[in-house]
Amino acid sequence: MIPVSRPWFGAEEESAVVATLRSRWVAEGPRVAEFEKAFAAYLGQAQAIAVSSGTTGLHLALQALGLGPGDEVIVPSLSFIATANSVVHAGATPVFADVDLATYNLSVASAEAALSSRTRAILLVHQAGLPADLDAFLALAARAGVTLVEDAACAIGSRLRGRLVGGDSAIAVFSFHPRKLLTTGEGGMIVTSDATLAARLRSLRNHGVSMSAYDRHAAGAAVIESYGTIGYNFRMTDLQGAVGLVQLGRIEDFVTRRIELGERYTRALTGHPGIAVPSVAPDVRFNYQTYQVRLTEKSRIARDALMRAFLEEGISTRRGIMASHREPSYRERPLRVPLPATETADRDAIVLPLYHDLEPHDQDRVIKTALELV
Ligand SMILES: *Cc1c(COP(=O)(O)O)cnc(C)c1O
Repeated sequence: MIPVSRPWFGAEEESAVVATLRSRWVAEGPRVAEFEKAFAAYLGQAQAIAVSSGTTGLHLALQALGLGPGDEVIVPSLSFIATANSVVHAGATPVFADVDLATYNLSVASAEAALSSRTRAILLVHQAGLPADLDAFLALAARAGVTLVEDAACAIGSRLRGRLVGGDSAIAVFSFHPRKLLTTGEGGMIVTSDATLAARLRSLRNHGVSMSAYDRHAAGAAVIESYGTIGYNFRMTDLQGAVGLVQLGRIEDFVTRRIELGERYTRALTGHPGIAVPSVAPDVRFNYQTYQVRLTEKSRIARDALMRAFLEEGISTRRGIMASHREPSYRERPLRVPLPATETADRDAIVLPLYHDLEPHDQDRVIKTALELV
């Protein structure tokens, strides 16, 4: 069976875990601090704050920005459901906007149409790792007087006009779920240029504490911490930090390999009338976090039947990125703007296998099967 995705771990990750286990390790310990420093340096960002997942990172980011009940946040419906959920977790209301069908990224016009007097933020997703047009959304956010928060869960290593996604962000959140390029099992990272916001995030991730356990231990004196606000346990452990550090050292290699595989798919599938391949602008480096194609009206088979047919050939696929507004948890909420592109993608998109050590002959089998069936 060819899986749709698979994390890549080497001997170095293994020894980092064993060494950490055998040391005096804590949550939010020295390896987390080192991982944060290396991550910030990789992006050229001022601050990186490690958390327990991408979802908790988004929740914390929205809350630290002061969002809460009565506030609206524009989100694409076409995203992993965590995007919308994080807004609800922060106590605010997600308002769904549509995407551009070519890139699956949020449509500026649709996001603008979804604004209201209650809108406080736009949660811009770099969908499947493909960078969204940051400048266009910064301009929209400035016009509307709202904050731009970036869901960069999938976008580590992707570049827009030469700059890494998250490198220029006021605030962005990455995920280290096993499905993503860089994984720590579960985990996430918030990056920001704002030191005051970073301090608030560090405190909120650990129950609103006045000083981290690491700093307390390092103080070399009897320090009594205090809890000023009600926060959460969204800490990353040193075990995860140790793995993250090793994986971060591999990131450019991961991206290079994914680009090889992604471009290989695109070369083979381009020109088939039933298949719309990913659209990658020349000023973008796409990390190919997810290789999603869409069946066009010329396809001879519907998406769900295609997934079953792939499975019979021993090839796992996934439905494309989901339409959150169609899930039972959001279905009853009224829509402010129509979502035609989202609904088309939800019906017709499929994710093909792509992972670091995908063998060329396995990829050839996926390609051959797709060309025969679609
Ligand atoms: C994976 C993902 C998340 C959630 O990240 P977790 O680490 O799994 O909590 C959020 N948004 C998007 C777009 C994602 O792909």
